[in-house]
Amino acid sequence: MSTSTEHRTHSDFPAEFRGAVLRPGDDEYDAARALYQGRAADEGPALIARCADEEDVAAVLRYASAQGIPVAVRGGGHGSDGYAMPGGALVIDLSGMRAITVDPETRVVRAEPGVKLGEMDAAAQRHGLAVPAGTVSSTGVAGLTLGGGVGFLMRRHGATVDNLLACDVITVDGRKVRADETENTELFWALRGGGGNFGVVTSLEYRAHPVGPDVVAGQLIFPIDQAADVLGKLSAHLATAPRELGLLVAIADAPPLPMLPKRVHGKPALILVVVYTGEPATADEVVEPLAALGRPLADLVTKTTWVQANSMLDAVAPYGMRMNLRGGYLPTLSDDAVDVLLEHVATVPAKPGDIYSINISFMGGAISEDVDEDATAFSREGAAWLWEAICKWDAPECDAQYDEWATTLTEAMRPHTLTNGYANLTDDLGEEWRRGVHGSEAKHRRLRSIKATWDPHNLLRFNKNIAPETTD
Ligand SMILES: Cc1cc2nc3c(=O)[nH]c(=O)nc-3n(C[C@H](O)[C@H](O)[C@H](O)COP(=O)(O)OP(=O)(O)OC[C@H]3O[C@@H](n4cnc5c(N)ncnc54)[C@H](O)[C@@H]3O)c2cc1C
Repeated sequence: MSTSTEHRTHSDFPAEFRGAVLRPGDDEYDAARALYQGRAADEGPALIARCADEEDVAAVLRYASAQGIPVAVRGGGHGSDGYAMPGGALVIDLSGMRAITVDPETRVVRAEPGVKLGEMDAAAQRHGLAVPAGTVSSTGVAGLTLGGGVGFLMRRHGATVDNLLACDVITVDGRKVRADETENTELFWALRGGGGNFGVVTSLEYRAHPVGPDVVAGQLIFPIDQAADVLGKLSAHLATAPRELGLLVAIADAPPLPMLPKRVHGKPALILVVVYTGEPATADEVVEPLAALGRPLADLVTKTTWVQANSMLDAVAPYGMRMNLRGGYLPTLSDDAVDVLLEHVATVPAKPGDIYSINISFMGGAISEDVDEDATAFSREGAAWLWEAICKWDAPECDAQYDEWATTLTEAMRPHTLTNGYANLTDDLGEEWRRGVHGSEAKHRRLRSIKATWDPHNLLRFNKNIAPETTD
């Protein structure tokens, strides 16, 4: 978004391109450039190449490479930085490539990069399966996977990258390669957490797991004045939690539900979002003690389906509002960190119609214990919790106020936050942050070296950028 490139008309755009070529003024241009991040609409790209297939992707990359033009890539359009549609840029739009296949015998799911999480869940659940991924249906599988992928199944089955078996990739010079545990292994390592830095991924293959269809899920809503006490008891309580428990804590305005007293509607509340994918008959043993950590205003946890459970947050995730997103890993959920988060809830500049939420996701289990830190570019070392603050508003004149609030919160959380992190669930925080987000200095150097092999001229630079290693 902030990174703009030279405006050009691309009058020499390759004639063999079969998909839609959209320029400013074309009928479908405005709809095509709309992203989840509403601020991206302030500026438009020079050309959106909506690819029909991987040959189209290769044609654009050959053209860009030959002329040294940087390229942006749009998967599902959820990236909070809006890097998918930078002002004046050439964009490879993958949103039309939406094939998905599920092999119930091998439990392998193959998705093209325009597939969204809700579509993948629906396709896999037809066979009683699920791929561990994120919590909002409209998120794209591609960007989510390339960054790491966390959600309600991460404690049971790991991050999305831990379940990635292979990718087809079009290189910046237009060749098709496969990356998996035996072919192009360094590239495969980098694709599992290093983002869209190394090539354009045209297919992703995942290991799916039996999940549901019945699960127990919903929300436990506590008054905000119980938040410090409940959160203070939570870590110790969860020390023996089963891996089948997915838990996201949200501090957000209470919804206007009839079972909640009117006085709390639209006022901050503590919401435990619970998804238990174990045997439904055993759910009470897990959920009741969580409710007993305080005196909930409402217990909305009930038997439901995996598809419904994994889309319950859609209601608070409307497309197209202006937004910012900050976050990081916590080694512990200390009282001091909780105090900082609660203090900032009191100062969030939200106006009617705006949406904010401070989320704290419970990690541990498979994502933390079953995979070595150096096995993937995605880092998880030392992370017990993941905090994120997301704000959404419509009025451009509120940008500065929200950004200031998010920066103040980030600074106040810095002493509690690890230097490694999850790149997808925060805005790009600059070079120093990018150097640390994947973990050790050695991992960063390895990523830079792989970048130098696959994208030496940094054509794929509209992203949380890893600069190619230089030889001088
Ligand atoms: C409301 C909301 C909820 C979210 N919930 C979760 C969650 O539960 N769990 C989680 O892990 N994350 C979550 N995220 C973060 C999400 O993983 C990232 O925003 C991710 O980048 C989205 O991918 P996308 O394809 O939709 O986005 P895009 O904006 O299309 O892509 C983001 C970036 O990924 C790269 N990219 C995308 N596709 C390709 C490709 N095929 N080849 C090469 N590079 C590519 C590009 O650099 C692009 O700029 C959430 C985000 C939002 C806004």
